[in-house]
Amino acid sequence: MKDRVATFGLFTLLLLLCLGLIYSRHQSLLNNQMQQRLRGQQAVISCASGTYQLLAQTLFEEAIQQEEILSLIHDMVTTEEAERRNLLRGWLFRKLDPLYQRVRQQRIRQLHFHYPDGRSLLRFHAPQLADDSLDGVRPSVLLANRQLRAVHGYESGRIFHGFRHVYPLFYADQHIGSVELSTSFLQIQQEMHQLTENQQTRLAFVLYKPEMWDKLFPSLQPYYQTTPLSPDYVVEFEQLSSIACDKGSLTDPLVWRLLKRLGDQASAHRHLRQQQSFILPLWHQGQPFSVAFHAIQNTLGKHAGYIVAATPEPFFSQLRIDSITTASLASLLLLMALLLRLRFLAGRRQQQRSSQLLQMVSDSIACGLFTADPECRITYVNETAAQLLGQEPAQLIGRIAHEIFHLDNETNEPCCFDTLLQKKGIARSDTIIALHSQGHRFPVEMICSPLHDGNKQIGTSNIFLDISTRRRQEQQLLATQQQLEQANRELQLLARRDGLTGIANRRSFDEALDSLWRQAARNRQPLSLLMIDIDHFKVYNDRFGHPQGDRCLQEIARLLQQCCLRPADLVCRYGGEEFAILLPETRENDALQVARRIQQQLRQRALPHPTSPSGYLSLSIGLCCLVPEPQHCYQELIDCADHRLYQAKAAGRDCICASDGP
Ligand code: GH3
Ligand code: MG
Ligand code: MG
Repeated sequence: MKDRVATFGLFTLLLLLCLGLIYSRHQSLLNNQMQQRLRGQQAVISCASGTYQLLAQTLFEEAIQQEEILSLIHDMVTTEEAERRNLLRGWLFRKLDPLYQRVRQQRIRQLHFHYPDGRSLLRFHAPQLADDSLDGVRPSVLLANRQLRAVHGYESGRIFHGFRHVYPLFYADQHIGSVELSTSFLQIQQEMHQLTENQQTRLAFVLYKPEMWDKLFPSLQPYYQTTPLSPDYVVEFEQLSSIACDKGSLTDPLVWRLLKRLGDQASAHRHLRQQQSFILPLWHQGQPFSVAFHAIQNTLGKHAGYIVAATPEPFFSQLRIDSITTASLASLLLLMALLLRLRFLAGRRQQQRSSQLLQMVSDSIACGLFTADPECRITYVNETAAQLLGQEPAQLIGRIAHEIFHLDNETNEPCCFDTLLQKKGIARSDTIIALHSQGHRFPVEMICSPLHDGNKQIGTSNIFLDISTRRRQEQQLLATQQQLEQANRELQLLARRDGLTGIANRRSFDEALDSLWRQAARNRQPLSLLMIDIDHFKVYNDRFGHPQGDRCLQEIARLLQQCCLRPADLVCRYGGEEFAILLPETRENDALQVARRIQQQLRQRALPHPTSPSGYLSLSIGLCCLVPEPQHCYQELIDCADHRLYQAKAAGRDCICASDGP
């Protein structure tokens, strides 16, 4: 949000700066053009007025500075007779009128002689008006007569206003008055027209009313009109110009309309108050103009009016189009930059959100996660990885992963990183040992995946899990399993052993007999069985008690086992005080030897049995040996041996019965 506000702020600032610069450049070019226009027109005005000053000078020197004329004037100003003066005035008029008429064609507007005291002596444009004082009206005349020097400059008058050239007159070194040769603004205007023809400049002469109004003959005041520019400025009516026989108009209608427009502008009034030359741009009916105001000062240096020059300025249109185009382009470019920036910010926000989400996911998963470059240097770790390794994430960045993770020495598997770099595939191992910062090691399961940038592998992404607990549980499970197996074995053993004597029980006997019977049948080998029963055991128990009876049973079991010398021989407790001995691959005679060995050994031990006829413990043995036939069942062997045991008992006990006797 902050970024967007800053971007909009910057954009606005740049836009304003750009537009400001473009506007400033526009104004600068406009001002340059206008100042150039102003200076050019000033040069034209100066040139035009200079031309007439030169003409006036020539006329003065060639036509006025004549002995005859000066003598006549001398007479006029020195005679005291008014009638003679009038006569002389008439002579002078007739003498110079042809010249006056000629120079009027050359736009010399006034030819006016003055007395040395500044009164009017003869006006060629109004010969009937004479002897009036020009004091306060025509400072140039008084200046020329007082300072006896030529005076040039603009000056308003009682009738006309114009650019005056006043020369003092001398006759025989005597000051006899002055003569004025003047040009009107219209003449200057026409001269300027010629000089600025190709620029289509329109001109007007606006007079500063406070400077000229009171000097005017009151009868001529109606010939002036206040400008729409300001009530302080007036222009001559065309009729007044006609009176002076000038042809043309002083005020161009277009300039009049432009003055009207400028009259509404505060800037124009501000400039007018300063009474200095200035120039303003103005758009009128869709056309651009420069309106230059060339300040005119009178011979006393006071503001007297303006020459107004309005010039069509197509350059302004071009400049305006250029500036608008530049401003539009700059705005467009900035707008594009703004859009790009906004897009970039939106993308960055999205990226930040994704990155934050990724970081959250990365830190919240229970697995350690780290990335490594192709040199196995760690480039990123998540919180869980750092916690598992007992270090800050920053401490792990840059470390070689091989220093922390390596294969369990007991296995020959290659390191998963090497596998990964070689195979460029996913590698998984649960035989990796990690090194904790505090020095202890713990087993981890690790999955390494290659990280790709396009087709190029730029490293690995690795997740690992502390499997210490799992390992402990596995070990515990293994131990329990082993214990169970042991217990199971023992159970199986117990299930096949007789609890009292520790020798094979009846179940074992049955299984062994089945197996040995079939084996003997396959091999066509004899299988012998001894069925053994302790004689008079009931009374033994009665005499010595059951615990002694049990110990006796254990003693007999040990004896029977000692008498069976072959490993394949199996001694079993068949039930109660009866025992059975299976003798595989043993012929009847050999089995008989075993039976005899048993009785012999028992007799040697001479275990007392007071209630037995012999006084010692004895055994009856039934022996049977068969080579099993496929059609026979092992029960035949049991039945046979059992039957012979019965016969042995019947024969008086403590004997062996190995055949079916009578
Ligand atoms: P015979 O000479 O005819 O074999 O006489 P007998 O007394 O040995 O035979 P009988 O079948 O009458 O008695 C067997 C006796 O064996 C009964 C029982 O008290 C005893 N006996 C059986 N099993 C055990 C045992 O596990 N422990 C002890 N102490 N005595 C047993
Ligand atoms: Mg018995
Ligand atoms: Mg018995």
